[in-house]
Amino acid sequence: MGQEKLTFKGGVNVPHYKSLTENKALEKAAEPAKVYIPLQQHIGAPCEAVVSVGDKVKMGQVIGKSDAFVSARVHSSVSGEVKEIKKMDVPGSLGVNCVVIESDGLNEVDDSMTVYSSLEDIKPEQILEAIDLAGITGLGGASFPTKVKLSPPKDKVIDYIILNGAECEPYLTADHRLMLENTSDVVFGIRAIMKALGVNRGVIAIEDNKMDAVEAIQAEASKYDNVEVKVLKAKYPQGDEKRIISAVTGREVPSGALPMEVGCVVNNIGTAKAIADAILRGKPLYERVITITGHAIGEPKNLVAKVGTPFKELIAQAGGFKSEPGKIVMGGPMMGLAQYSIEVPMVKGTSGILTFTKEEAEKKEVSACIKCGRCLTVCPVHLQPVYISACAIKNNFELAEKYNAIDCVECGACSFICPAGRPLTESIRLAKREILANKKK
Ligand code: SF4
Ligand code: SF4
Repeated sequence: MGQEKLTFKGGVNVPHYKSLTENKALEKAAEPAKVYIPLQQHIGAPCEAVVSVGDKVKMGQVIGKSDAFVSARVHSSVSGEVKEIKKMDVPGSLGVNCVVIESDGLNEVDDSMTVYSSLEDIKPEQILEAIDLAGITGLGGASFPTKVKLSPPKDKVIDYIILNGAECEPYLTADHRLMLENTSDVVFGIRAIMKALGVNRGVIAIEDNKMDAVEAIQAEASKYDNVEVKVLKAKYPQGDEKRIISAVTGREVPSGALPMEVGCVVNNIGTAKAIADAILRGKPLYERVITITGHAIGEPKNLVAKVGTPFKELIAQAGGFKSEPGKIVMGGPMMGLAQYSIEVPMVKGTSGILTFTKEEAEKKEVSACIKCGRCLTVCPVHLQPVYISACAIKNNFELAEKYNAIDCVECGACSFICPAGRPLTESIRLAKREILANKKK
């Protein structure tokens, strides 16, 4: 394909482990008997339940919403009966209100959303409305409401829409399979975002460890003269918003600023697919692709699973544990969230369930810093992790702030590369939390 491979400064080469699932076609997960759907699965205001115990609901029916601008509606992923509304622990949060629905197995569909036959049929404001009604959030993990991301202030000029197909976290292959198996939806999704924002330049950026996806997307994108594919060098954290903007456009997003400051809006592959579902099928976001993987899993796979399905059911469908797991993570190994229970339900932001064996999960021994400087070389934000970490350990958060700790994207590259096993990311995360708490005082 002879295309120039783009990259950014810094970062690390990590083992990919994607071969466990990259050639596994998407499989529909078994119908859950009961779903546990959190009313907060997004950044922003939690939703209020708009159903009560005993109500019959259809698949795709709204069960939670909020009047706040920064929020995202929540829909039922099954048809059935609301059995309980109760606080539960969910991935990343404790005590979140959840609607518990017993499936009747019929998957009777709520058809209240408008279906459009093509992009020519739908106006920009109707695209934003469909995204809002469908409760779409960023599916890369951050779960920011997409309608908010696509509503920049009027004075911001956006001239680049980027679809993030880097999927730079090891093990995960959900976006890779979507690009191969739902190619036209992915390209439709970026074109819908471009139309919503009145932008005529779209780039789908994919790492060079997924050349089959590059070819598939390229073939579809070539039908449109304003969408192109760019190949990125596989390097972690290439999928970070600011790193992908730097690689694709050469523009650097200033410290503390959003991508829109440099004319860019970045969305995830799964988000583009969800937008196509909302517009072309009137389907809200109540299921997604999730990679169940790792060396403690019997049969790693990519499942299309319903929001609210307990982790334990998805793990069982992937062959269960073949050895006792030492650690379970939601998402990838670099930025994912460790889970202490497999009773928790999957949410819109669950890109993967990753399992480590006991041996893999053993912590590296920590020794004194040998002043090798590697953490400085790999930091994609050009911070000085060793110094910030030292400040955090001494509770000197003022100095950590002067070292721009707040700009850390918590990618984990510094901890990964450190030969002394120093828990750099953990201590920098702590410093960030303290700095933010002090600012609020
Ligand atoms: S300091 Fe933060 S941004 Fe820099 S490498 Fe470490 S975790 Fe990543
Ligand atoms: S990589 Fe580890 S050992 Fe090397 S300078 Fe940074 S903290 Fe010290």
